[in-house]
Amino acid sequence: MNAPEPIAFIRQHLIDPEVCIRCNTCEETCPVDAITHDSRNYVVNVDVCNGCNACISPCPTGSIDHWHLVPKSLAYSLEEQLSWDELPAQKEFPADHAAPVLERELPDEAIDDEVPQTNASESPSSTSPPWSAAHPYLHRYTLKKPIVAIVAGNFRLTATDAQSDVHHIVLDLGTQFLPLLEGQSIGIVPPGADASGKPHTLRLYSVASPRTGEREGYNNVSLTVKRVSADHAGQPTDGVASNYLCNLQKGDTVRVTGPYGDRFLMPNHAGSNILMICTGTGSAPMRAMTEHRRRLSEAGKPVGGKLMLFFGARKPEELPYFGPLTKLPPALIDTTLAFSRVAGQPRAYVQDRIRERARDVAELLRGDTFVYICGLKGMETGVLDALRDACIGAGMDWPALHARYVQEGRFHVETY
Ligand code: NAP
Repeated sequence: MNAPEPIAFIRQHLIDPEVCIRCNTCEETCPVDAITHDSRNYVVNVDVCNGCNACISPCPTGSIDHWHLVPKSLAYSLEEQLSWDELPAQKEFPADHAAPVLERELPDEAIDDEVPQTNASESPSSTSPPWSAAHPYLHRYTLKKPIVAIVAGNFRLTATDAQSDVHHIVLDLGTQFLPLLEGQSIGIVPPGADASGKPHTLRLYSVASPRTGEREGYNNVSLTVKRVSADHAGQPTDGVASNYLCNLQKGDTVRVTGPYGDRFLMPNHAGSNILMICTGTGSAPMRAMTEHRRRLSEAGKPVGGKLMLFFGARKPEELPYFGPLTKLPPALIDTTLAFSRVAGQPRAYVQDRIRERARDVAELLRGDTFVYICGLKGMETGVLDALRDACIGAGMDWPALHARYVQEGRFHVETY
């Protein structure tokens, strides 16, 4: 009897839809455009992926790092992957084929499974946290197994006549274990189904409360949520998760997943400075970090060095946390606000304010400083240019400094 034909196997790169937070980082990173998405899932085109691993390290959740051994002829198509709510189990193959011919189809330089080294100066953001960051918990609760939190409060932060409807929402976790660090995010699973009849996927929100909770001694967490009422093209649309969250009443229940994020974490060592640059609801992690330092300071514990904040909004009435922000003592934080739409005043963005305070910014960057940028995608270039100009103006080598900051886990960018 003839021996069975050997089957050509491949290691197919797959993304776990239950853990993926749809942040688009993988699609942006992939050098060969193998990753694509629809309104539900991010997927990898087996015909294009060359296994270079460039997308693995930037992924904030680890959902990207799945490899299934499959016969080449039976590789999962894009359509199959787009229909998944969870990763299928790794298939078993008959004993006849127990010694498969493995076609890895990797480029020569990736044969040894080495992750290609990225040139730090090409990437604006660190791929590791500060050396003194606390160890984060990750992925304790998933889309399939979320925990249920109870709404303890839902307050509108922006003035009632302001265009932006931004809410501060506090969720009570009861006795459930959900340890969170400043800079981490949780997932919210809106009830109901999307247009195709499938349950909504989770949406990600940065926590606005410090590690000890919105109220110390209470097991709770707060979020900063802006009601989305228009799409990117300005067409009216109701954001599913943001409207669900902003409409919640005290006592309502919410399905929560996470925690997520192991990089955008604050340094914990005494003497460390934090430079925070944010727009709008990108203020959530900055509020968390500031409040952690404020509590440490109040308790007489060793605190880091300086806190410097650049915060942009359209108007004071549209700036989340405006009142409490102005009450923070200058000894705790050096705050500069930028308003873009105040009648009778020229438009100011955070990068304009950084330029105005270039000497102070450069001085801070000379020290043991960690930089956090969070908010609108559009601010990224302007802020990087302003930081560059501040350094050049102070006679500093910006490319070298930026590369070192990225390399040392000192430069964190989270923009959408
Ligand atoms: P927004 O109100 O639309 O804008 C805030 C300010 O940024 C406005 O003054 C705006 O000015 C200005 N701005 C616009 N383009 C800019 C640019 N290129 N450079 C610098 N400033 C610019 O902000 P938002 O709607 O709150 O958006 C915040 C972003 O943070 C969202 O993308 C959100 O996804 C993200 N985020 C949210 C969270 C969260 O937990 N909720 C966490 C992380 C990040 P003009 O409008 O007058 O031009």
